Amino acid sequence: MLMIFSGLPSYYVLPAVSVDDLPADECADVKPAGKIQNTHYIAKQQDKNITYSWIPGHCNINGNELADTAAKLAHSSPNSITLPIFSLNGIKSVIENNTLLQCQKEWNEMSTKLNEIKRSTLSYPSPDNILRKHETSINRLRIGHTHLTHSHLMKKEDPPPVCTCCGTLLTVKHILTEYRIYDKERRLYQISNLLDEALNPDPNNIHKIIQFLKQTNIINKL
Ligand SMILES: [Zn+2]
Repeated sequence: MLMIFSGLPSYYVLPAVSVDDLPADECADVKPAGKIQNTHYIAKQQDKNITYSWIPGHCNINGNELADTAAKLAHSSPNSITLPIFSLNGIKSVIENNTLLQCQKEWNEMSTKLNEIKRSTLSYPSPDNILRKHETSINRLRIGHTHLTHSHLMKKEDPPPVCTCCGTLLTVKHILTEYRIYDKERRLYQISNLLDEALNPDPNNIHKIIQFLKQTNIINKL
């Protein structure tokens, strides 16, 4: 634009390019339209005649013409290869999946009461259409802490409760899968003798375990 004022001719043709062609640092803080308007106003004050002419941004620039030609050739060439370039979201997805796999691997290798109850590290869906009280009971069974098995700690009583049939320590696993006094109800509601299956979140299974808890009146002791 400055050449408008330094040159002798009074007639100019200005090639107009898009904002995309301006340097990034210039786009950041300069409003191109305002700059052009101001320059145009000043030039007119000096009796300069200005005509604007649009041209394609890359037209007649040798390097760009060569790059365009090479790109077209590469696009149709049978020798073209696809480079393993990942998008940001693609990389995030890979990291997320690998993290979940690593977490699950470590969980599988642990030997605790919790991973005997829940084999997957993914969260369970909330059960639909069940009472809040029943949902609480299921959650207490899943963490292995219930009034029936742990209230002695709150009451500071000793010893802990034991099974009335075999004398073994009373645990959630023993109540749901081993306690002989509930064998009939266990068969009736097809309660698995594997804890993770007995407490899995399938709606049909949830319904059966709640029926079992109600039939045995365990529901009121959790
Ligand atoms: Zn027992």
